[in-house]
Amino acid sequence: MREITNQIKDIARKLFEEKKIDMFLAWEKSEFDFQSMPFFARSAEEVEKIIFDEFSVHNLSNALLRFRDGKQRIGIVVKGCDSRGIVRLLEDHQFTRDRLYIVGVCCPGMKDPLKAFRNESGFEKTANADLEADKCNDCIQPNPVIYDVLLGEEQPPRMQGERFKKVKEIEAMTPDERYAFFEDKLSTCIRCYACRQACVACNCRTCIFDESRPQWVGREANTSDNMMYHIIRASHMTGRCIECGECERVCPVHIPLMLLNQKLIKDVDSFFGPFDAGLKYEEGAKPPLSQYRENDPDDFL
Ligand code: SF4
Ligand code: SF4
Ligand code: SF4
Repeated sequence: MREITNQIKDIARKLFEEKKIDMFLAWEKSEFDFQSMPFFARSAEEVEKIIFDEFSVHNLSNALLRFRDGKQRIGIVVKGCDSRGIVRLLEDHQFTRDRLYIVGVCCPGMKDPLKAFRNESGFEKTANADLEADKCNDCIQPNPVIYDVLLGEEQPPRMQGERFKKVKEIEAMTPDERYAFFEDKLSTCIRCYACRQACVACNCRTCIFDESRPQWVGREANTSDNMMYHIIRASHMTGRCIECGECERVCPVHIPLMLLNQKLIKDVDSFFGPFDAGLKYEEGAKPPLSQYRENDPDDFL
């Protein structure tokens, strides 16, 4: 990946020198080998800190939200999942394409810094520990879908086994078993909202969960309010989730949020599809639940 890092640096440096961007969004190395952090370079000199390696796991597209009201022209590095996030932002009118210079990198799969940290800090360090990020196991689109320049060799989808296998296992349960399953999982949610903060599709300016008048959902982390939080968030993600897995990756109590997201992805695909959010950008295109057609299926209501 050193070669890709050098290519990214060359591109970013040139963009600054030609005054085509005001900042460039990539990663920099932290004090630990297993930690690469999102990094905003603001000058050609700062470009030297940029790195792209096997721990560049974050979906950077979410970071663009903090600049949505500005005029800065931004260079950004995107993997497959990040690029689908860019499509999400463009479709949601949160950003305009002309403010972005997109450096796409075909993604060979990323490692999970938390798994690496655990391995490093345990009593027994395993030399060949499996550190692959869980989100990469189910990746259908490792190659960027929108870019100005593309780096690296195109990668095959990384799906291992049948898509939606875990969702189908949950679907096979009785309604009572399913309720008990999710009640158990969601009871441990501490309502830290890390899943919301990491999500590129959670881009409302005022989040319903931050409102106090009216207060739609109690702030307390109890099972019923937790379930309400997750039901509402999941319904807001329907047809919009770009399957980047960041919400589940950042959850400190390991709630299997992708089960909920993938159930919705599967249902939207079967009712309105074939459809996967963010796989291509067409100006003016909308996700299925953001438009109305008279023949929309409704027998599931
Ligand atoms: S989800 Fe896909 S594109 Fe994203 S980091 Fe994993 S393999 Fe790469
Ligand atoms: S990140 Fe996990 S614990 Fe925090 S609100 Fe989301 S599901 Fe709950
Ligand atoms: S809900 Fe999760 S998987 Fe879907 S876009 Fe948001 S962070 Fe990514």
